[in-house]
Amino acid sequence: MRTYDVVVIGAGPSGSTAARLCAEQGLSVCLIEEHGTIGHPVQCAGLLSVQAFHECGVSRGSVLHEVSGARIRSAQGSELAFDSGRTRAVIVDRGMLDREMAMNAARAGAEVRLKTAFSGRSGTAVRTRGVRGREETGFRVLIAADGPGSPVARSLGMPRPPVFLSGLQAETRKDMDERYVELFPDASPEFFGWIIPIGAGRARIGLAGKKDVFGRFKTLCREAGCGSIINLVSGTIPLGVMERTYGHGTLFVGDAAGFPKPTSGGGVYTGVRSASHAASVAVEACRRNDLSDSVLASYERRWKADFGRELELGLRVFLLRQQLSPADIDRLVSALNDPAIIAEICQYGDMDRPGAIIRRLVRNPGVIPAIGILLRGELYRIFKG
Ligand SMILES: Cc1cc2nc3c(=O)[nH]c(=O)nc-3n(C[C@H](O)[C@H](O)[C@H](O)COP(=O)(O)OP(=O)(O)OC[C@H]3O[C@@H](n4cnc5c(N)ncnc54)[C@H](O)[C@@H]3O)c2cc1C
Repeated sequence: MRTYDVVVIGAGPSGSTAARLCAEQGLSVCLIEEHGTIGHPVQCAGLLSVQAFHECGVSRGSVLHEVSGARIRSAQGSELAFDSGRTRAVIVDRGMLDREMAMNAARAGAEVRLKTAFSGRSGTAVRTRGVRGREETGFRVLIAADGPGSPVARSLGMPRPPVFLSGLQAETRKDMDERYVELFPDASPEFFGWIIPIGAGRARIGLAGKKDVFGRFKTLCREAGCGSIINLVSGTIPLGVMERTYGHGTLFVGDAAGFPKPTSGGGVYTGVRSASHAASVAVEACRRNDLSDSVLASYERRWKADFGRELELGLRVFLLRQQLSPADIDRLVSALNDPAIIAEICQYGDMDRPGAIIRRLVRNPGVIPAIGILLRGELYRIFKG
């Protein structure tokens, strides 16, 4: 049985980043992926902030389109549009992005094993089955980047994230202002719906929620006047980080840990950032030859210092959002539709770190009365300090 310094399970953006960074530091790395084609099936809208895309460390080959703003429409008729006048986000072909990221890991020296599925552990070895038959592969550090279902976490009986949303999305022909991403809070009461332009009169339309996702999706498509649909993407979005993101010689990164942002469901940015913290800790642990959980614990301290507070605030906003009626949403959208507030959103808004703009808005006297005294108290409790 061969033993690697680091075995990574899952070649999504998080796993490929962890594998690349460990290999670049001279560690022996094996990246294990259950599918035969990386990036397939796609389970993503492909909307990444400019910064998130930069963190992926890839060429612009996967970029399909760029957007500079967003339009939010409530079911009761209020609308808010803001355009920062410069590219704020890119829309990518996720399959291409994932393949380039895995290719970069392989170029850095990681061994990539496709059509090989993690099926269990025996001490410091993983058991796999796939094209190579049944195998055991030893590791010094295991990085679980195996997505929302995380078979690695389940095999260890580790508590999973508290919330799982289902997402459904299609690509369709759609005439729209291609500078904007369009958001529909009422299309799915626990979360929201979206239409994302991908250029040349085409768009991705979808939503995520806890229930009746297909029914809501059909309604959104009908109301948006979408043309015929020839592809459908479904997937799970875990929200709320698992209780402990390390243990048993393992670091949990990306969706496996529950890192998607609870305000948007976007998980590539936090996935890649968490993978880079995991890689640093794995390199240190291997160099010091101390693979104990007390050393691996510094991973949790690092990601918390980086984006832990954002995720915590985001989850509270998500829980608060569950209490908003369509009338509340309408009042909120209408209150935000003020030139001074729009200028503030353009200046301070950050898709990956929305805490700063939410804090500013919550303190804005023009916004709070719109959503009532009860909510005001709740929001102040959330954002105090
Ligand atoms: C409908 C929808 C739309 C989304 N839109 C966006 C968006 O616009 N922007 C954004 O940032 N995020 C978006 N997300 C979230 C984003 O897709 C994820 O956060 C991101 O893919 C997480 O990357 P990851 O590498 O952690 O996990 P994944 O991309 O899920 O990769 C996990 C990998 O592990 C592999 N794997 C699983 N089990 C095993 C096993 N037993 N053995 C070996 N390999 C295994 C899988 O095949 C997969 O390749 C969306 C999600 C959904 C569902």
